Amino acid sequence: RAKSLGKNRVSVYDLEMNRLSEARFSLEQRLRLALDRGELVLHYQPQAELSSGRIIGMEALIRWNAPGASGLVPPVEFIPVAEECGLIVPIGQWVLGEACRQNKAWYDLGQRWTVSVNVSAAQLMRSGFPEEVRAVLEQTGLPPELLILEITETAAVRDLEHTRRMLLDLAQLGVSISLDDFGTGYSSLGLIRQLPVKTIKIDRSFVQEMTDEGGNGAIAEALITLALSFGMGTVAEGVETEEQRERLARSRCAAIQGYLLSRPVPAQTITKKFAGGE
Ligand code: C2E
Ligand code: MG
Ligand code: MG
Ligand code: MG
Repeated sequence: RAKSLGKNRVSVYDLEMNRLSEARFSLEQRLRLALDRGELVLHYQPQAELSSGRIIGMEALIRWNAPGASGLVPPVEFIPVAEECGLIVPIGQWVLGEACRQNKAWYDLGQRWTVSVNVSAAQLMRSGFPEEVRAVLEQTGLPPELLILEITETAAVRDLEHTRRMLLDLAQLGVSISLDDFGTGYSSLGLIRQLPVKTIKIDRSFVQEMTDEGGNGAIAEALITLALSFGMGTVAEGVETEEQRERLARSRCAAIQGYLLSRPVPAQTITKKFAGGE
């Protein structure tokens, strides 16, 4: 009896696994087509300097205009799959090219914004990555100092020596590096300090704690102080309220990004609202 139950379990499990891998397969296939069919889009979210309120840059955030889906598919639903199957490499190349092209268009309208592009660990591991970045800058004509590459601390410390060399090559091009979701990983601060990182992004969870009941924002403040002592700049993520903005200003945070300023929106909306164009 126990044996047949065990058998049943196995077959139910196999069925389930099969169903799951089919779902995965088709998502992967659809994502592969999405790139060719131009279904991927970038939205942009402004960043402002805290002292002046001036807009200083935009973060490019990917979405998928999938056929049949209601609304745009958010990156959490497809970036992990793209990372697993290697599609993140061509997707990442597209993102980089498109973000640089768009920022050059804003540059031509007279803006001097930086554009921040999220880079996955798999992209960073490829030895040809700095050369790809150099080629994109050359093709688009975007000044290198207006490109920021955002890497997560987990990706950065995966192979520290490789990352360090890669980031030095990128810095050589004039591009800057920002550490995303800072404070959420488990990397040693001593390691981070060895990397040529220009700014750190204070994760949204720590910003929210600044005004949560029971939270005191001590981590956000400590991270800002730490960044300052390392000579790095700071951008606070996920700033939603005026109170958070004030607390961050008092903590000497340099810049903010979040719904308080704007949600991520299509490029044309940015052009109309912030670049004084059509
Ligand atoms: P991230 O790089 O940390 O981006 C910030 C996320 O926080 C974005 O989510 C943004 O929409 C959201 N956000 C911004 N302000 C607020 C706020 O005030 N409140 C709240 N609740 N959320 C806010 P999104 O666009 O869904 O992106 C999620 C993640 O997906 C990104 O986190 C990034 O890790 C990844 N991602 C997005 N675009 C790309 C891409 O082109 N390439 C790669 N490799 N990853 C990407
Ligand atoms: Mg980011
Ligand atoms: Mg982030
Ligand atoms: Mg985050």
